[in-house]
Amino acid sequence: MFDEEDVEARIFFGSTEETKEEKTERCSPYDGIVVSIAQACDAEDTKRALKIAEEAAKEAAKTPLSQRILWLEDVARKLEEEKEVFALMLTKEVAKPIAFSRIEVERCIETIRVTVLELANLHGETIPTDIMPSGKKTLAYFRREPVGVVACITPFNFPLNLVAHKIAPALGAGNAVVLKPTPEAPMTAYMFAKLFVTSEYAVKDALSVVYGDAEVGSTLVKSPIPRVISFTGSVPVGHIIMSQAGIKKISLELGGNAATYIDESADLELAAARCAFGAFYNSGQVCISLQRIYVNAEVYGEFATLIAEETAKLKVGSPYEDDTFMGPLIDSESKERAKNWIASAKEEGARVIVGGKETEEGLFPPTVMADVTDDMKIICEEVFAPIVSLVPVPDYETAVEKMNDSPYGLQFSIFTNDLKMTQAFIEDAQCGGVVINDIPTLRFDVQPYGGSKLSGVGREGPRWALEEFTEIKSIVIC
Ligand code: NAD
Repeated sequence: MFDEEDVEARIFFGSTEETKEEKTERCSPYDGIVVSIAQACDAEDTKRALKIAEEAAKEAAKTPLSQRILWLEDVARKLEEEKEVFALMLTKEVAKPIAFSRIEVERCIETIRVTVLELANLHGETIPTDIMPSGKKTLAYFRREPVGVVACITPFNFPLNLVAHKIAPALGAGNAVVLKPTPEAPMTAYMFAKLFVTSEYAVKDALSVVYGDAEVGSTLVKSPIPRVISFTGSVPVGHIIMSQAGIKKISLELGGNAATYIDESADLELAAARCAFGAFYNSGQVCISLQRIYVNAEVYGEFATLIAEETAKLKVGSPYEDDTFMGPLIDSESKERAKNWIASAKEEGARVIVGGKETEEGLFPPTVMADVTDDMKIICEEVFAPIVSLVPVPDYETAVEKMNDSPYGLQFSIFTNDLKMTQAFIEDAQCGGVVINDIPTLRFDVQPYGGSKLSGVGREGPRWALEEFTEIKSIVIC
């Protein structure tokens, strides 16, 4: 379906593809080669897409659920057929190692399929209005209706699956969508959107795609047309969206500084292997990347040795090679930030126990820091780079207090064989999700997912997204 020579992400004004004179080139973060070209959209293009969506939403709401299900199933099937093309484009645009790009494509297919399953459960209930003495017997019930237009704004780190988490439930629920994908991966988004738009089951004009950055994003946010802004990205942009959106539903999936506690009862070898994965997967550019490891002082030395050994096994290099674990960061600013934060932590007394220096190819390596204290940037802010900090603690209580002492609250985990501690942790952890005996960098796409505190508002995962993208209408027949 896709021609390898065609690297131009075209605008979808509903079902119509268009190009513009002004374009932006996307260069690979690995070798700087131009890998795709996007149309440079502006506020006018965005407003046009919104108007088309407003009209299309009327038709979408009337489209039978059976057709919307066939639509999503068709997209999942075609994505399955084209999965290698998608994986390669992901690797080209954001330099995700090819093995992980393939996993992202598989996850995306599953996300669409789970959305189809959840659509069957998107229904209302009858309400017994005579339960109150002041009530009377009626036929009262509620139903869920599509909100109309949903604006979706997505980040660079999972540029396919995070688009699927928004547009599959939004369209499945009977809405029209305007998508503004990350400027870092326009072609991945274009190809995915094309599967929707060209499907024989598509609702005409229900999906539009515009490319750009803050201008396009804030035009979507400020417009009265979308009834939901579904955003995944950084806390600073989340703040801007909150201040600009006006009265509409806002779902924010933002950043974090995920943490774990290694208890002395834990299986240390398992914990070390998993922590190296969770800290360095996707070069640490994951909202639930493991950033803080609190280790019981009794096993701190042993754990530090084990995680250093596990980290040394990870292959850093070309993202196009099957066995590469880590490629480059998304851009040179991110690399500079990582270097600066390590330098300032060292000045304040922290030690690098693995990594810290660029490879010969100029790639930032997986880096383990020790003797890190609570006020260092690498621990209290979102690093979003392959840096993990080890902190010795005397006991569980101190660990959980330090974990919670953060403006973020996305996911935390614990490695322990103590059942009582596990139960306490589930209660004590101030965050959107806890994981027992594995890394906080764990997300099953079928689960509710989201954060507390600055990490966001609302929950994703198809079932919860479907609720977000619908409104309850209450009915009484007397
Ligand atoms: P970002 O906030 O820089 O950009 C995200 C999107 O917002 C992009 O499409 C961008 O073009 C757009 N944008 C920029 N300015 C805007 C504005 N003024 N109005 C509207 N949209 C605007 O984030 P990023 O660098 O692409 O991604 C990394 C961040 O995303 C990290 O903080 C990470 O933790 C977070 N993230 C969170 C989750 C989650 O589910 N909680 C998942 C992935 C990433």
